Amino acid sequence: MVMHKRIRIAIDGPAASGKSTTARLLAEKLGYMHIDTGAMYRAITLKALEENIDLTNEDRLTDLARRCSVTFERDQSGNRIFLNGRDVTQEIRNPEVTKNVSLVSSHPKLREVMVELQRLLAAKGGVVVDGRDIGTVVIPDAEVKVFLVADVDERAKRRMADLQKTGITTSQQQVEQELVDRDYKDSTRSASPLRKADDAIEIDTTHLTIDEQVQKIFEYVQKKYCLNNEN
Ligand code: C5P
Repeated sequence: MVMHKRIRIAIDGPAASGKSTTARLLAEKLGYMHIDTGAMYRAITLKALEENIDLTNEDRLTDLARRCSVTFERDQSGNRIFLNGRDVTQEIRNPEVTKNVSLVSSHPKLREVMVELQRLLAAKGGVVVDGRDIGTVVIPDAEVKVFLVADVDERAKRRMADLQKTGITTSQQQVEQELVDRDYKDSTRSASPLRKADDAIEIDTTHLTIDEQVQKIFEYVQKKYCLNNEN
């Protein structure tokens, strides 16, 4: 018998480990919604930069997060993200946002606002949620938890390829240094640091293609929950 339970799948891991692409493709395969929580922190960072808010001012940033509406819409290329109704899908990937997002997301009070919103979005199930603290804090009772890892030079290569597509040129060394810095900040902050949940399965994607990593998780989900991909 095929069981149709709309479960919650948490995917965590360091920067550029393939979380977002994997989560998007897995969500498509299952007919689930993809929630990219990194994009949500990026959207708030973009707005804070636009409003010239001091990025160390936790209260002002928390107030900003409360005032902003962050929503997703799906199109053929995946999620588009809207900040107060404005499509910011491209802008949230700019280097200035990437450089500052770890500082913005380190504030505990701001995280409370974001986590509440993320829990609301995930509440009905049928979701693949990717981030840093999904399996540990946002949905600690998620039915499936995955922690993706990959060697840093491979992650830097992938990030370089993404950046090149958007016309940004940079050196591999610089990209690698940025990833290392961001991972350090994300794993050492006091509020919900990047950490593998005890009950998460770890997948090293260094030598896997995106399709292979999606298939691995898909098979694991099928085995555990007898799901099929017709919804
Ligand atoms: O996933 P992505 O690299 O776009 O995330 C950008 C940043 O947002 C991370 O480096 C981290 O600082 C923050 N983040 C977070 N918690 C999450 C998702 C992202 O702190 N759940």
